[in-house]
Amino acid sequence: MMLATALYMAGSLALFAGGDQDVQKVDAKRLKEIQAFERELDEDRRIGKEAAEYYDQQFKPSKDPANQKRVEEIAAKLALVANSQAGFKTLWGEKRQFMLEYKFKVVDSKDINAFSLPGGYIYVYDGLVKFSQSDDELAGVLAHEICHASQRHLAYMQKEQGKMGVIQIPLILASILTGSNAGLMAGSLVGTAMTNGWSVKAEESADNGGAQLMIATGYNPTAMITFMERLQMEQGTMEKVVDLGIFRTHPPSRKRAESIETYMKSNSIPVRRSAVTASFRVTATEFKPGTYLLKFGERKLFAVGGDNPKAKAAELTKRLNDFFDTVPEMYEITIGDQGEVFGRSKLLVRFDEDDAEVNASTVQKMQEDASKALRSCAFSLAYHIWEGRG
Ligand SMILES: [Zn+2]
Repeated sequence: MMLATALYMAGSLALFAGGDQDVQKVDAKRLKEIQAFERELDEDRRIGKEAAEYYDQQFKPSKDPANQKRVEEIAAKLALVANSQAGFKTLWGEKRQFMLEYKFKVVDSKDINAFSLPGGYIYVYDGLVKFSQSDDELAGVLAHEICHASQRHLAYMQKEQGKMGVIQIPLILASILTGSNAGLMAGSLVGTAMTNGWSVKAEESADNGGAQLMIATGYNPTAMITFMERLQMEQGTMEKVVDLGIFRTHPPSRKRAESIETYMKSNSIPVRRSAVTASFRVTATEFKPGTYLLKFGERKLFAVGGDNPKAKAAELTKRLNDFFDTVPEMYEITIGDQGEVFGRSKLLVRFDEDDAEVNASTVQKMQEDASKALRSCAFSLAYHIWEGRG
């Protein structure tokens, strides 16, 4: 109604040109559109509510209250911005702005999964919360799910499907709700959507909208990329798992990750993996007094000692993270003749006799070992993630 009033006021400024009757006509047309949209949204809420009642029977709530709390805190920030009518761009789906009352539920399951129902009902599995290595990574998944709801992807898939005269989504939802062949039918919906390319469009649009939402809320969208990369790595090590969880409805791919990266670059936002995941970050820990061990993810690099080893380890950690965040090539790591290891011709580390003693090695051997370890990290970062896939 507020919108209709605002339009009427704008219209009345045009009185001199048109006259009272024209204004009223525009008003009535606009009002009808608004009412039609309201009915569509009511339908979303009705379908969502029914489906949520079904899923509430299927799942137990998480036994870990900390997981529910963590999701709710992050989700509340995102939902507030999503509802702020901030003028986000939609690549595919609903472009009109409206408010949604989001409800987030963490459910008791080890699977890495999350899904979104029409009307803002969002389910997150315990396994996914556990898999997230930072608030940014969890926010990335929540932002993506929020966008499926706010861009009304199910309704738009239904519209597309209606045009083509194939199976109707309400039928499928109904079968899910009554529990008949739920898995099979839900699978066929996903299958149909995939064959027709809508799911790809919906995924890209939820990623793009999710990145916009993260930026506006103050989260680092790099986390969407690292979450996909780590999921892909995880997938590689668990080929035999039957339930693919998030892979089934939100398959990660190199193309999706690259689209987010392109979007970030076009908005001058640096991609810094080390800021959002421990897997692609160099850390230093004191493993015995006065000696710090540097690791990239789980991969051991080398230890440092000597005078003020803590400050030295901190400086090296920062320098190496800056280097790895640029996703270097293996051949860009070289050694000098004064104990140095270079990255892109810039000094990464210079080993001395103190370091050699700490590592029970020689300066030359340390250079060789460290450059080998750094190359292997660069290799896994640059190539292993999407190798042979995507
Ligand atoms: Zn998705």
